[in-house]
Amino acid sequence: MSEPDADTLDPTSLRTPIVAVLGHVDHGKTSLLDKIRGSAVIEGEAGAITQHIGATAVPLDIVSTIAGDLVNPDDFDLPGLLFIDTPGHHSFTTLRSRGGALADIAILVVDVNDGFQPQTLEALDILKRSETPFIVAANKIDTVPGWNVNEDSPINATYEAQSDRVSSRLDESLYEIIGNLSDEGFSADLYWRVQNFQRNVGVVPVSAMTGEGVPDLLAVMMGLSQRYMKEEMEIDVAGPGVGTVLEVKEEKGFGTTIDTVLYDGTVRADDQLVVGGQNDPIVTDVRALLQPRPLAEIRTESRFEKVDEVSAAAGIKVAAPDLADAMAGAPVRVVRNRDLAEVVTEVEAELADIAVDTAEQG
Ligand code: GDP
Repeated sequence: MSEPDADTLDPTSLRTPIVAVLGHVDHGKTSLLDKIRGSAVIEGEAGAITQHIGATAVPLDIVSTIAGDLVNPDDFDLPGLLFIDTPGHHSFTTLRSRGGALADIAILVVDVNDGFQPQTLEALDILKRSETPFIVAANKIDTVPGWNVNEDSPINATYEAQSDRVSSRLDESLYEIIGNLSDEGFSADLYWRVQNFQRNVGVVPVSAMTGEGVPDLLAVMMGLSQRYMKEEMEIDVAGPGVGTVLEVKEEKGFGTTIDTVLYDGTVRADDQLVVGGQNDPIVTDVRALLQPRPLAEIRTESRFEKVDEVSAAAGIKVAAPDLADAMAGAPVRVVRNRDLAEVVTEVEAELADIAVDTAEQG
């Protein structure tokens, strides 16, 4: 059989991969997300970057502007990357989809000076068990003594600008991380030496402070997704939406709302939903779909703006009656033309899975 021709695939049916950031406390998870968000905002001044509820979408054209020569947009048909804004292990393990991790791909942040720490090992264990593909961001390269900063530069350019002493000092730290990964059963190497990212973990030296290596990090994430995860990203975009609750929140004027990451299909403002609850599945009707309003408009208006529909992958706040019992990590499913009882059964099964996993984790 021949491979399907990429040109015949409907690009609108390919969704954005969902990216999670993990790592030991203080190794720079939040700073890295802030840096990526910040770079994307600057590059996409016209507002091409969209702030979602609980997530940040970085579209392909912005990835390509940040990554420069490292990403030619013509080589990709995935629409970009969606970063979950809350980094850390707790959110990673509670956020699930159909029995797996909600995140399609992960960045494990390791401080080059501090190396492997208890939560680094814990994160590796979580990634291994959930079979989530990941890359390692070897962060804080700017703290190597004598480092010559080249803001936002790709790694090879800034490497060339370092003295031999500085670059060999960085190499030592990087090889220690590669050795630690190998001790944990992961064959790893500096990302530019990796041929097959399914077999080997790529290590990307970065600085969340100076932006050095961030072009490489985005390029590797984009390349890895395109090469190995494209099939999983094929969705029925117009179909009934499927997502996971990030957080249950009281919102003035809207009552209890659920911040949700949608990973399949579309949710519309007039849809009926089934949401996982602490006891039973909740059957409810969407009252409003809410997205953050651009900062400039917040002074005069509510923080949120109502939208008619949202398609995966996206972060969205859903206001609906009877959500008080909804829980973080629970499934959300749109009913639309489907049989309500069938959707309820699916949600019940997913909730039972979550209960088993929670018990196993003690
Ligand atoms: P988290 O706990 O993993 O989210 O770590 P943070 O992002 O809060 O970072 C912890 C500390 O390390 C903060 O003081 C950051 O400013 C600092 N930091 C993070 N990344 C870098 C980096 O690349 N270079 C330097 N010099 N400092 C960094």
